[in-house]
Amino acid sequence: MVNLFSLAETAKDCELCPLAKQGRTQVVFGDGNPNAEIMFIGEGPGFHEDKQGKPFVGAAGKLLTQLLGSIGLRREDVYIANVVKCRPPQNRDPKPEEIEICTNQYLFSQIEAIKPKVIATLGRFASAVVLGLKDVSMGRVHGQKFKREGRYIVPIYHPAAALHSRANLEPLYEDFRKLKEYLEEEPEIVQEIETKAEQLGLF
Ligand code: SF4
Repeated sequence: MVNLFSLAETAKDCELCPLAKQGRTQVVFGDGNPNAEIMFIGEGPGFHEDKQGKPFVGAAGKLLTQLLGSIGLRREDVYIANVVKCRPPQNRDPKPEEIEICTNQYLFSQIEAIKPKVIATLGRFASAVVLGLKDVSMGRVHGQKFKREGRYIVPIYHPAAALHSRANLEPLYEDFRKLKEYLEEEPEIVQEIETKAEQLGLF
C-alpha cells in the first residue's frame, strides 16, 4: 500500500528527471486532504508555487478556491497536485521524458494512495496525460466524465483560462457544478472511457 507521507518525503530531494537541475526552488509534491473524494491535477508548478512549495497558490489558485466554494468545498476538503512536481523553466510544457518519470514515480502513486472518487484534470495538458491520450480538445471533453481504472476522470477548463478571458468564467463554474453532480452520483452511471472516447472520435 502506498503511503502518501513517505512518498512526499522521497520526492523532496528528487533528482530523477532533468527538471531537478533547471532552476526549481523546491519540489511541489501536492497539498490537501489525503482522504479527499476529489483530487485536482494541473500541469506543473508556476512561479508562485515554486516559491511557496504548494500547488495553485497564485491568481489561478485564488480562483480555484472560489470555484470550490461555489460547490460547497474548501481547499482542505480536496487534494491538489500537478503532473510534474518541479517548475519547468519559463513555464514551458513538461517534456515527455519528464512526464513519464514523474508520473510513474509520484502522480500515479498519489492517486493510488488518495483513492479519490473523482479526478478533475485542469486544462488540456493535464487532461491528456491523465486520460492516457496524446491530446484532447477541451471544447469537446470539458465537464464530461470518463472512467479509467475504476475512477472518474473529469477534464475541466484551467482556471488560468478565465483569468485571460472573462468569457471562460461561466463554463468553468458549469464544470464545477458537474463535478458536484458526479461526486453525488452512484458509480454505475459512469461510462467507460473507451466507450466515451470512441463516441468523441478521440481514438
Ligand atoms: S519533476 Fe518529478 S521526477 Fe523530475 S525531479 Fe521533479 S519530482 Fe523528480
